[in-house]
Amino acid sequence: MKFFSTRGKSEVNCSANAIAKGLADDGGLFVPEKFPKVSMAELKSMLDFDYAERACFVLHKYLEEYDYAELLSACKNAYSKFEDSDGAPIVKIDDNFFIMELFHGPTLAFKDVALTLLPYLLRKGSDISGIKENILILVATSGDTGKAALEGFKDADGIKIMVFYPSEGVSDMQKLQMCTQEGGNVNVVGVKGNFDDCQTAVKKIFISKQVEQDFKQRNVVLSSANSINFGRLAPQITYYFSAYCDLVNSNEIKMGEEVNFVVPTGNFGNILAGYYAKQMGLPVGKLICASNDNNVLTEFYLTGTYDCNREFFKTTSPSMDILISSNLERLVFELSNRDASLTAKRMEELKSNSKYSITEQEKAKLYEDFYADYTDGEECAETIADFFDEYGYVLDPHTAVAVDVANKYLENSEDERAMVVLSTASPYKFPHDVLKAITGNAPTDAFKSAKILNEETATPIPEQLSKLKEKQRRFTAVIERDKTLEAVVEFIENK
Ligand SMILES: *Cc1c(COP(=O)(O)O)cnc(C)c1O
Repeated sequence: MKFFSTRGKSEVNCSANAIAKGLADDGGLFVPEKFPKVSMAELKSMLDFDYAERACFVLHKYLEEYDYAELLSACKNAYSKFEDSDGAPIVKIDDNFFIMELFHGPTLAFKDVALTLLPYLLRKGSDISGIKENILILVATSGDTGKAALEGFKDADGIKIMVFYPSEGVSDMQKLQMCTQEGGNVNVVGVKGNFDDCQTAVKKIFISKQVEQDFKQRNVVLSSANSINFGRLAPQITYYFSAYCDLVNSNEIKMGEEVNFVVPTGNFGNILAGYYAKQMGLPVGKLICASNDNNVLTEFYLTGTYDCNREFFKTTSPSMDILISSNLERLVFELSNRDASLTAKRMEELKSNSKYSITEQEKAKLYEDFYADYTDGEECAETIADFFDEYGYVLDPHTAVAVDVANKYLENSEDERAMVVLSTASPYKFPHDVLKAITGNAPTDAFKSAKILNEETATPIPEQLSKLKEKQRRFTAVIERDKTLEAVVEFIENK
């Protein structure tokens, strides 16, 4: 299967090439030439599979040149790092209302679902593509991708990884998780600015021909572990299928019945994977895009204009504090009936004028599959408190945003389809804000907050976090955003 760039000036022969490259040469994102289908009979056969088998089955529809048995063993290995080897267990909260818990992996955020598998996909993809150089992964993170990527790639053969995070834009726990990372091939650097500044700086390095040539002479090729990489996106498609199978197996829905998914959204990778699942034939109703105060996507949904020239807010859901949602480009490309030159023009407008618009016709198409709304900080805290009161279930702030948007949607519609909220992080990654929401106050120290949260809610503190306290802080550098390339070069030369 070929992969095209959303901007039309680049294509590759197979998924392995797309994954190895990360970003297309013209700055666009790789999309599959068509969406492979999963038939009802195939979906039925997936009912009896475990999570790793479901993952392999879905992935292989795109990753045709990967050996099936080898891919399956890579999936088994990746998902053995999750509690009960399940990447996406479903919890029933109420009639027709479910939470898909995507945070039972090594770093307690949904990014683990893709990033435990990506090292294999990338190593193999590079081998298939005939790439002999060492691989350098550059990551811009809003908090969770960085840690998940570091954990996934630490001590991987022939691969180095460097993570940039916004120095003031991540939670204490997130920062500590990254700065204490072990492994001989890793580096972590804070960048002054917000996530968009980080992402833009890293993208600039990716598309520079000069950098590419310089690095090649040093026997290094760049790749990306961000969700612009198809290898990140593809494993995320699995859990929509898996959730569906679990709901059928527990008799909550009948085979063929549509299900709605509510997704706390930042870079638009998670929800786009749901759209891909729907294109592949999964009976999905609405994909509900939930934002925090940085509600650029809600506005896009309502007006058809994407305008990132607006105030940036720091919220209690930092992994969604994003104004430039990279993966929206893939959706806009589909909405335009795959008009790559129009997509390229719009992305050019976004770069020069900070905005672009879609047509009324495209907007109508958007409305067939999506709904969007947002939740402010106060509503988010109330949701955490109310949900704990009512169900004894502790939400993290990102998931709370999605739950509140789900409630708003249900209040205004007669939609009776089952509703699955994607839970993207453990509440213990954000103990201060979660505790404050539930009890009204919380100590600033994250570990103290975690301890009280544990006592108040009788939920266990994940071991990965309690262990952090004793770990050495290896990475403390913070740089100006125009110094990112220098920092990368230094990292390559140092070892
Ligand atoms: C990354 C992240 C999100 C946003 O996901 P996107 O794929 O970027 O839309 C939401 N919640 C948490 C906890 C995250 O780590």
